[in-house]
Amino acid sequence: MDDRISKEKRSWNMSRIKGKENALEIKVRKYLWHHGYRYRKNYSKLPGKPDIVLTKHMIVIFVNGCFWHHHDCQLGSMPKSNVEFWQSKFQRNRENDLKNIIELEQLGYAVITVWECELQKDFEKRMAFLIDEIEYLINRNEML
Ligand SMILES: [Zn+2]
Repeated sequence: MDDRISKEKRSWNMSRIKGKENALEIKVRKYLWHHGYRYRKNYSKLPGKPDIVLTKHMIVIFVNGCFWHHHDCQLGSMPKSNVEFWQSKFQRNRENDLKNIIELEQLGYAVITVWECELQKDFEKRMAFLIDEIEYLINRNEML
């Protein structure tokens, strides 16, 4: 395989991408915190170490970077170099995502995924919708 990008460069790129994803997570967490929600972050006791867990309400929220999780949108497009490397990487990431969601649901958690592109398009609107989703789930849980 043609390896024009050195390993160091590649891991530097990856850490940059992950840094961007973290910044997004922080923004979402802050919003939820200001709206009175209390959560655990990067909760390692659950499959996939979810970004945000409203433990009391059994709700898990993943904030996904579109590139990293290979979302079906413009930001999730395939890089033009090292295609094979990225293809297998993305496939693994997507398989993991799916496996984690299934396991979490089996444990009784509701799983919400918030995508980077949705937040970029209209942060306030996406967050308002997220809160609607959370409130719906909380009310539903209370009625059970
Ligand atoms: Zn996207």
